[in-house]
Amino acid sequence: MPKGKFTACIHHPAVEAIAHCHQCSTPVCGRCVVAGPTGRFCSFECREKHEQFVEKARDCDVNGKQGGRFSRAVRKLFGYLVFLAAVLFCLGILCTMYEVPLLSEWTRAVRGIIGI
Ligand SMILES: [Zn+2]
Ligand SMILES: [Zn+2]
Repeated sequence: MPKGKFTACIHHPAVEAIAHCHQCSTPVCGRCVVAGPTGRFCSFECREKHEQFVEKARDCDVNGKQGGRFSRAVRKLFGYLVFLAAVLFCLGILCTMYEVPLLSEWTRAVRGIIGI
């Protein structure tokens, strides 16, 4: 038995582990290690779990990016709406000044709501 820091394989206490499972951190030797595209694992079960985890994380990432794009679009749209409302409101005030019948009604209502 070698002395000092020695991490034994979970299945072979006399064999030094060459890797720790990416999923559950179990030490495994070269014979037990299960290699996958996302890392090295103690079992096929762990490899599968980790692959699912990575896939889910990737999905979340994509959704997050789409969400960011979406909220940017909403902010832009909201900016347009505020601008449009301001323009309409100015137009409405002009209309009440010149007593344009249809729009002035609307503007009077809005002015009533905000109190000017
Ligand atoms: Zn594992
Ligand atoms: Zn082993």
